[in-house]
Amino acid sequence: MFFNEEFETLPREAIQALQLKRLKAMVARVEKSVPFYKEALAKAGVTSDSIKSLADLQRLPFTYKQDMRDSYPYNLFAVPMEDIVRIHASSGTTGKPTVVGYTRKDIETWSELMARSFVAAGVHKGDIIHNSYGYGLFTGGLGAHYGAERLGASVIPMSGGNTKKQIMIMQDFGSTVLTCTPSYSLYMAEAAKEEGIDFRDLKLRVGIFGAEPWSEEMRLDIEGKLNLSAVDIYGLSEIMGPGVAIECCEAKKGLHVWEDHFIPEIINPETCEVLPEGQMGELVITTITKEGIPLIRYRTRDITSITYEPCICGRTHARIARMSGRSDDMLIIRGVNVFPSQIEAILMGVEGVEPHYVLIVERKDNLDTLEVQVEVGENMFSDEIKHLQALSAKIEKQIKEMLGVTCRVRLVEPKSITRSEGKAKRVIDNRNKA
Ligand SMILES: [Zn+2]
Repeated sequence: MFFNEEFETLPREAIQALQLKRLKAMVARVEKSVPFYKEALAKAGVTSDSIKSLADLQRLPFTYKQDMRDSYPYNLFAVPMEDIVRIHASSGTTGKPTVVGYTRKDIETWSELMARSFVAAGVHKGDIIHNSYGYGLFTGGLGAHYGAERLGASVIPMSGGNTKKQIMIMQDFGSTVLTCTPSYSLYMAEAAKEEGIDFRDLKLRVGIFGAEPWSEEMRLDIEGKLNLSAVDIYGLSEIMGPGVAIECCEAKKGLHVWEDHFIPEIINPETCEVLPEGQMGELVITTITKEGIPLIRYRTRDITSITYEPCICGRTHARIARMSGRSDDMLIIRGVNVFPSQIEAILMGVEGVEPHYVLIVERKDNLDTLEVQVEVGENMFSDEIKHLQALSAKIEKQIKEMLGVTCRVRLVEPKSITRSEGKAKRVIDNRNKA
């Protein structure tokens, strides 16, 4: 099933021809209308007329999150404010948020790409979409909402929070699709259980989870506990919001990037060279149809790889691998690179522990230490202490063997790790605190 079969199944040569045409037109727009790009393009010695093939993309300058912060709030906008119909912003951990603006056409494009994403995930007209992504400045809620309406499904604008009410609504309204962060879906399942409600009795069929990296092992856990088909969605407000890429329900093997609107590249984040198909690196995205705030070679900081191999679903758009994490989130522990998602994958494979964990990094006597706190199941916690000791030793050994990093595993009581209704906080890094 497709939402826009013609564009979703374009032959590769047609995708590339369209990308080149749209890339040239976008560069022609920003070199006139955005002083930042006028200067950056001149410095790189590139004009829209000098772009002859997609390989010329590599001559274009990168755009960094810092450039967006420096342009706060509207200096990267490529159209006058009277053409902007929506403004969103993403909260940064430090300082001012990054601001994005959408023209009417941008909202239409976003709605279509989100509708395509829903269909790829196995959603159709007639579905009742329970949308627990946050509504507000964050793009998640409204992005999914407009896509659901564009598709013609029924959307329940829940937003995050008030978990008991969420469960009641899902039960009473007969929700068939759930959209939220993967960690929140597990929290909902746990909260439902406390109320004596089994998620397997609900009508949920499809779950679309994103906004934080999660592992394949967590997918299996969610699918088991919520009795639905779980797919991964990717997006970021700087590029558009949710719906930049999605897994198809047919393969669930990599996320199709809507290449008629975005050009993805994978680069080595240190040397900035473009990497070949299949190699892991930083995802860089160029928007080629956006009007409000077009971005050239935006450094997402997300780590993945790309493949152009045909997919069984019939979509011809390239697929990026499930995110390993953000390069900003990568922990370097005594010189070893570790992503929280790698530790998660190991934890999820261990019987007796729950999918709730937090990583605490400290520096003692100039040495990094990593403590992995993970909850154990109710049955396990009442167990003898020697069993718990054996379990933590087993996890420590697996982490050492698979990731090469020494850590201390502390098993904690069920439900003692703070639950999140949005993005889960997995890492507490105390190293840079005095
Ligand atoms: Zn596919």
